[in-house]
Amino acid sequence: MSEFAKGEVWLVGAGPGDAGLLTLHAVEALRAADVVVHDALVSAEVLEYAAGAELVHLGKRGGQPSPKQPEINARLIAEARAGRRVVRLKGGDPFMFGRGTEEVLALVAAGVRFRVVPGITAGIGGLAYAGIPVTSRDVNSSVIFLTGHDHTGLSPEGIDWAAVGRAAGMIVLYMAMRHMGEIAEKLMAGGLAADTPVAVVMRASTPQMRVLDTTLEKAAADIAESGIGAPAIVSIGRGNLLRAQMAWG
Ligand code: SAH
Repeated sequence: MSEFAKGEVWLVGAGPGDAGLLTLHAVEALRAADVVVHDALVSAEVLEYAAGAELVHLGKRGGQPSPKQPEINARLIAEARAGRRVVRLKGGDPFMFGRGTEEVLALVAAGVRFRVVPGITAGIGGLAYAGIPVTSRDVNSSVIFLTGHDHTGLSPEGIDWAAVGRAAGMIVLYMAMRHMGEIAEKLMAGGLAADTPVAVVMRASTPQMRVLDTTLEKAAADIAESGIGAPAIVSIGRGNLLRAQMAWG
C-alpha cells in the first residue's frame, strides 16, 4: 500500500463494529496514525488498533448536540497542516451517509493530500450478520439504500415513497428509527403490502446485536415495545424471510 505520509488525511471506513471487518489498509493506517478523528459509531474494539495515536471524538450523534461539519473539516485541515498523519475514521463506509464527500471536498479546497479507504457498510455487512442477504437472485434482485432523515433530523419530505416501494425488492434504511411509523405508512399508501417483512438490526456485528422481525404494519409498535433503538438498520422486503434459514450469528 502507499506510504502514509506526514500531513496527509486518510478517510477510513471502520465497518459496522466487529474489528474483523476492518480492511488491511484500515489497520495499517490506524497503526501509523498520529491522530485519529473518529465519529460516535466507531467501536472501542476498532479503536484498539490505534493505540499509538491521539484519539479525538468528533462526530454527529442523532438527537444530541454534535460538532458542526465545518468544525470537523477545520480540525482535519489543522492537524494535517501541523504535519501529522491524520486518520478520519467513520463507521461503516465513509461515503454511505457518512458525510465523507463534504470532508474530502474541504481537504481538496485546502490543498491537503488525502486518500480514501472504503469500509463495510452497515446496510450490507451488518445485515449479513443477521442472516439477511441484500440481494439474492430469486427473492430480491435489487436493493435501494435510503436515509430515514435528512440533515435537519426530519424524515425526508422530498422522497417519493411510493416510487421507492416499487423501485427495489429490498429497501435498506439508515437512520430511520425515529420515523419508522411515518415511513411505513407512506410505503403502504404507495402500495407495499402491510405484511411485507421488516427486520430491524441494532448494533449489527457487535456483541450487543439485536434483531427484531416484524412487518410494515406492525413495525413502529413493535420497535416501541421491544425497546430496540439506534444505531439500527431497517430492511424491508421478502429477502428478510431468508433469515429463518440463514442467520448464523
Ligand atoms: N457510514 C455508515 C452509516 C452512517 S449513518 C455506514 O456505512 O454504515 C448512521 C446510521 O448507520 C445509523 O443510524 C444506523 O442506521 C446505521 N448503522 C451504522 N452502524 C450500525 C450498526 N453497527 N448496526 C446497525 N446500524 C448501524
